[in-house]
Amino acid sequence: MTIRIDDWVFEVDVTRTKAHAAHALGSHCTCGYCENYYRVVDREYPNLRSFLDRFFVQIEGPSEMYPFEPTLCLLAYKVTGRIAQVGSGPIMVDGVPVMGDVIDEDTFKLEVGEIELPWILEEDMDEVISPANEPEFLERMYMKLLQRNGGNLMFPS
Ligand SMILES: [Zn+2]
Repeated sequence: MTIRIDDWVFEVDVTRTKAHAAHALGSHCTCGYCENYYRVVDREYPNLRSFLDRFFVQIEGPSEMYPFEPTLCLLAYKVTGRIAQVGSGPIMVDGVPVMGDVIDEDTFKLEVGEIELPWILEEDMDEVISPANEPEFLERMYMKLLQRNGGNLMFPS
C-alpha cells in the first residue's frame, strides 16, 4: 500500500506490519516512562494515534523508546515496507516531528519526537526502574541524542 504524506512516499506491507504491531503491542514495555507515555499521549497529541494508524502500527507498541529525560522522549515504530521517497523534512503531527528512517531493505521505522510529555504517574520520575536505565541502553541513548543534535562529538578528527 502506498502512503503519501507531504513529499514522503512510503510503501507499506500491511499484512506483515500488522503482524509485527500485534506482537509489539502484546510485549510492550510497562516501565514508568512507557506507562506515562501511554497515559498522556492521546490527551497531549490527539492526532498521533490516527497518524500511526495510517501505517498500521499501534501507539502502545513502540519498538523503542528513548527517554532522554522522563518528560522528553523519542519513540520508534517499526514498519515493514520501504521508503520510496525521502521527504525534505520531518512530517509534523501536533507539533511533533516524525521522520522515516531505513532499517534494512524491507523495514523502516518512524521516529516520533522528540516529544514532551507531562509526568502524571505517582511514581517519582527520578526513581523509575526501566530497561532504559541499563548502562548499555544509556550509552545507545547518548549516541542517539548526539546524532539527533547533529553532534559528532564522539568521533573527533
Ligand atoms: Zn519502558
